[in-house]
Amino acid sequence: MATTSRAHQPSRAEAEVVDLVSRLIRFDTSNTGDLATTRGEKECAEWVASQLQEVGYETTYVESGAPGRGNLFARLPGADPDRGALMLHGHLDVVPAEPADWSVHPFSGAVEDGYVWGRGAVDMKDMVGMMIAVARRFKAEGIVPPRDLVFAFLADEEAGGTYGSHWLVQHRPDLFDGVTEAVGEVGGFSLTVPRPDGTERRLYMVETAEKGLGWMRLTAKGRAGHGSFLHEENAVTILAQAVARLGTHTFPLVVPDSVAEFLTAAGEETGLDFDPTSPDLEGTLAKLGSIARIVGATLRDTANPTMLDAGYKANVIPQTAEPSWTAGFSPVAAPSSNAPSTN
Ligand SMILES: [Zn+2]
Repeated sequence: MATTSRAHQPSRAEAEVVDLVSRLIRFDTSNTGDLATTRGEKECAEWVASQLQEVGYETTYVESGAPGRGNLFARLPGADPDRGALMLHGHLDVVPAEPADWSVHPFSGAVEDGYVWGRGAVDMKDMVGMMIAVARRFKAEGIVPPRDLVFAFLADEEAGGTYGSHWLVQHRPDLFDGVTEAVGEVGGFSLTVPRPDGTERRLYMVETAEKGLGWMRLTAKGRAGHGSFLHEENAVTILAQAVARLGTHTFPLVVPDSVAEFLTAAGEETGLDFDPTSPDLEGTLAKLGSIARIVGATLRDTANPTMLDAGYKANVIPQTAEPSWTAGFSPVAAPSSNAPSTN
């Protein structure tokens, strides 16, 4: 959500950005993870191109591995060509949204109560809108940055980048020529923590490792039958029991080294004792507030059922419950575990 109220006189970029974000949201770029149903990236990338071309940019449109998977690149030359280029990158796709779940239509880009509303407003058409606004302002006002800026608007971030950044670095490394640094999504969640003297301190966390991820599908097989009879092999019942057990299972606490380091640093800042071996570690973590859910997920494996589907008629017991269950399973104990740390 981007706020529209500013206390000072807005710059050209600031004046533009709300409109840009709202317009970006109106492109339904839902990434379903399925090539057949993912949509909108091409149209959105072409629109971004038009916004940049309008102020004089030359743009490069590239489809990354499949029709419609649109990406857009533009470069603004800097004063010193010997310095490495800085890339600013954002993704144009969003995760799907069910309009019935929303108080405003998720692809309306409505501007209400001082906010821009819709799918992608915080992930990440907000930043994409800011990138376009800044790129337009620099070009229009003849601002020459110290070094080359490369603006990249990418497809398929929400489903792993196979048809986006991954394809591009493999097949079009020329688009990244001279780039030595890049700034993209989630540059810094800050965390305000209480200090022992009653004051507060803001911490900026740096990711030092990533949690692994596994998706699973569970299938229960039973015996088909009529819903009105006695039935001991109902695939839906078997499946529901398994899903309930997996969904409520608590995996054992495992504190990887990187997480232990974070806990030590957080303890020094807050005066709280985050002893990794304490049986009440999670109780203490809760005092960190909203971030506790994230840090807590680095302390153990997690498994969450996310999709359920079975049956085709209300009075028929199906033979199988399939596809039935997809889980995000995150082996924190693996060497590549997620561990935010203080900076
Ligand atoms: Zn994102």
